Amino acid sequence: MMGKRALITGIRGQDGAYLSKLLLEKGYEVYGADRRSGGSSFWRLKELGIEKDIKILYMDLLELTNIMRVIEKMMPDEVYNLAAQSFVQVSFEQPCLTSDVNAMGVLRMLETLRTIKPDAKFYQASTSEMFGKVQAMPQNEKTPFYPRSPYGVAKLFGHCITVNYRESYNMFACSGLLFNHESPLRGFEFVTRKLTDGIARIKYGLQEKIVVGNLASKRDWGYAPEYVEAMWLMLQQPEPDDYIIATGEAHSIREFVEYAFRYAGFDIIWEGKDIEEKGIDKKTGKVLLEISPEFFRPTEVDILVGDYSKAKGKFDWQPKTKFEDLVRIMVEADIERVANKRY
Ligand code: NDP
Ligand code: GDP
Repeated sequence: MMGKRALITGIRGQDGAYLSKLLLEKGYEVYGADRRSGGSSFWRLKELGIEKDIKILYMDLLELTNIMRVIEKMMPDEVYNLAAQSFVQVSFEQPCLTSDVNAMGVLRMLETLRTIKPDAKFYQASTSEMFGKVQAMPQNEKTPFYPRSPYGVAKLFGHCITVNYRESYNMFACSGLLFNHESPLRGFEFVTRKLTDGIARIKYGLQEKIVVGNLASKRDWGYAPEYVEAMWLMLQQPEPDDYIIATGEAHSIREFVEYAFRYAGFDIIWEGKDIEEKGIDKKTGKVLLEISPEFFRPTEVDILVGDYSKAKGKFDWQPKTKFEDLVRIMVEADIERVANKRY
């Protein structure tokens, strides 16, 4: 008997890779939607050793007719909509494009499914960024939204339209409100990977220092392979619903910096204030980290911390990897890559 057919948009991304691996292990036929115009390669699928097991279809969330043909062709049982312009900072520079992909793109997917395959189960990759200027601590499924970037605003539309299609047309549509999740496959533009990659390069003399922005903001960082399992679990429940996926712990960027340098064998001391602050190697006195206004955002999300008790209660999901272990996993992976010239 053939396994279920899953379509994953954003197949080249971090979550697309881990989710593909999980679904392949569960016996799914996995189709990956690739926008083709993107510049990235299939390096993540290669790292996981699964690039030959996925059937790639060309599909861009900007093009409705393209989405219709893909859905007609493969008639999926489950659709995981992970594709997005996913970087908050870029959304301030490209608000229209971000909204077209992250908001209208979701609607295009839902409209197509409603028309062609209404019984397909649909997962929407929503985000803690929708809570933005947080209205309660910690954030749960009932916390009011207050997005602080075009990314967050567009994702909020994606979330609301997913709920609306579920309620209007009885579709099995779920929205996963996932807090930040990281891994050695995280994109280089995000602060965690920028740091762990930069630190590995500093260790091997390929880079002198790392330049970042706001060290004070706090994030609830989890481990991506555990988060994609929650996506799958949401679609296996008897009823569609929305769930927070988080660790319940918040740590600052400064803490991430300190832990990451420590795992690479550096002891960082801080000197100076605000934009003049520097992270200095205690042993050599060299400046290893500097601050630049370039990496600050017009509006910041100061803190995010999620309450995952609904997911725990409904399908027994809980985070396993602690913050310190996540940092160590990422630092070790980047040191191994740089040491073996795999970059
Ligand atoms: P990535 O940035 O790693 O991957 C996003 C993918 O979307 C990329 O493969 C990209 O293609 C693709 N994409 C971008 N624009 C389009 C388009 N117009 N049509 C089709 N595909 C497109 O993100 P993650 O894997 O980290 O995240 C997955 C999803 O979860 C995203 O929607 C993100 O916003 C959301 N999310 C992520 C969180 C996290 O911490 N990782 C937290 C909460 C939500 P290409 O490779 O060609 O550039
Ligand atoms: P986000 O939570 O989706 O915006 O994930 P990011 O990893 O892009 O940013 C997390 C936090 O790190 C935000 O508060 C940023 O302002 C902060 N930050 C500080 N320096 C940097 C940097 O150099 N790059 C990025 N991406 N974020 C930074």
